[in-house]
Amino acid sequence: MDLAENFTNSFQGIAVSPGIGIGRVMKLAGPGNVAPERVEIPDSGIDAEFERLHAAIAATAEQLVSLQNELRRKLNNLDADIFEAHLMLVKDRTFVGEIEKRIKSGKCNCEYALYEAIEHFQKVFATIKDEYLRERSLDLRDVGARLMENLTDVGEAMLGLDDSRVIVATTLTPTETARLDTSRVLGFVLENGSVTSHTAILARSLNLPAVVGIPGSDLADLCGADKLIIDGFSGRVIVNPDSRTEEAYRLKARAADEFHARMKADRELPPETVDGFMIPLAVNLDSACCDCSSLKNSGVAGIGLVRTEFMFLNPHHHPTEDEQFEIYKKLLIDAGDLPVVIRTMDIGGDKIAAGITTVNEENPFLGLRGIRLALRERRDLFRVQLRALLRAGVYGNLHVMIPMVSSISEVLETRAIIDDLCADLAAEGFEYLRKLPLGVMIETPGAAVIASSLSRVCDFFSIGTNDLVQYTRAIDRGNEHVSYLYHPAHPSILKMIKSAVDGAKEGGIPVAVCGQMAADPALAVLLIGLGVHELSMVESAVPLVRRAIRSVSMYDAVQVAEQALKCATAAEVEKIIADVMKEKFPELAEI
Ligand code: PEP
Ligand code: MG
Repeated sequence: MDLAENFTNSFQGIAVSPGIGIGRVMKLAGPGNVAPERVEIPDSGIDAEFERLHAAIAATAEQLVSLQNELRRKLNNLDADIFEAHLMLVKDRTFVGEIEKRIKSGKCNCEYALYEAIEHFQKVFATIKDEYLRERSLDLRDVGARLMENLTDVGEAMLGLDDSRVIVATTLTPTETARLDTSRVLGFVLENGSVTSHTAILARSLNLPAVVGIPGSDLADLCGADKLIIDGFSGRVIVNPDSRTEEAYRLKARAADEFHARMKADRELPPETVDGFMIPLAVNLDSACCDCSSLKNSGVAGIGLVRTEFMFLNPHHHPTEDEQFEIYKKLLIDAGDLPVVIRTMDIGGDKIAAGITTVNEENPFLGLRGIRLALRERRDLFRVQLRALLRAGVYGNLHVMIPMVSSISEVLETRAIIDDLCADLAAEGFEYLRKLPLGVMIETPGAAVIASSLSRVCDFFSIGTNDLVQYTRAIDRGNEHVSYLYHPAHPSILKMIKSAVDGAKEGGIPVAVCGQMAADPALAVLLIGLGVHELSMVESAVPLVRRAIRSVSMYDAVQVAEQALKCATAAEVEKIIADVMKEKFPELAEI
């Protein structure tokens, strides 16, 4: 039942973190928007302003490190690396140089120079039509606000909440999110953001519901007296619900909490179907700079996807071979014997890092993205990354995979580069991984269709359903106007997955799924029925997927997949899965 179907005063946004939140509104205004007073500084006072600036930079860097440590504890060590970008930014020469220049040439106080510098960079960012970069602009604003606090001696206060509240804001920076007293936060409703935004990542890690993409005009009229229900499962936000609706959602929230507690208690149990098929469950990491030592004893089978593009975001400094080597080495040592699949930089599409490419594309999702950019535009960076990976590989169980593959030649060219690098490393006397398992991400329809040929030139497949859905159904994954077509269970997608699985079988290689589809317990059953060997997902999804797998037999899963492949619409497939889950895993259906 859609609990809000008869409710008119509700908004539909994008659900980016599951759960139900009910409570009064707390509106947060963004930091750093008000110009500080401009104070004229005589020539003799400029040095003192520089000193104040550098003291504030040092204090900010120190706070960011301790915030990162604190967040690591709160978030089981994962996801805290978001502040790594802030740390880089606060020490960035261009950023600091711009403030110094304004102090000196404008003969003004640090606060005013900082304000002007932030405004200047924000304007530069605003001319770029890219979501990923817009979020970097948020980092800049966040770091600026922190520096301003340290200059003005406001001190670091927790953002105070007198009572438990639903946070409503245009945007929320990672620092603001981390400084909230999260024991009093019931959830987030934001105008800006996406599933991949930092706030969404943190909300998921903190297990707080979040909905983004609500138009500012809808949020403008909300005030502290308004009560909201946020449904982080459906993306619905209900304003001042009647008592019947509120009670229905409270029951849903309670059921969801109890359900998740029960799922977590199963941590020790293997992800095995009732007829004895073991399905390894791995986790996805959004950054290679993670302390993942806790994973060794968490019952997961490994790390199925490490996204590495994050570290190439700083336009002034791309990580060197040695810096990357240290990062990968630590990750591999922390993971112990667990397999770790590191994906080479997937830059392009919506992840355009400034300073990486000079190509200006009309249609970046169909342009130089992933392996195309690595081979054609930035082979230099690709070689550095592969060299660092080959060197780090001796410290653990490393697998490397390449994104956005659409032809055999891309794999062969990558292999040739690896062979070449191995020869160099041997000649230079480095230790390196001699047999590097090389995988291919199946995320274009072309790759899925030629999977049998691809499987002969690589060691494993990992299906990236986020992109496979986008490219197969020709729908921009970030465009809310076509999101109604974004159905991973659509028969066209299932046929692509089946083709990839069959191709993998012909080449005798394993096939995993690391897209969001693997994190959905019902779809996970469909995936194993289609023949997928391993599922990789955000860590918080593991308990539910484990339970779903333990509820069915492989026979059931295969039956579901066979019926689904005969369907003509996503709705028919969804009904088949829903019916099976209702029977085998009724608690899930209730949630
Ligand atoms: C995918 O496309 O499913 C995937 C895992 O890669 P990303 O979301 O990083 O594009
Ligand atoms: Mg992808």
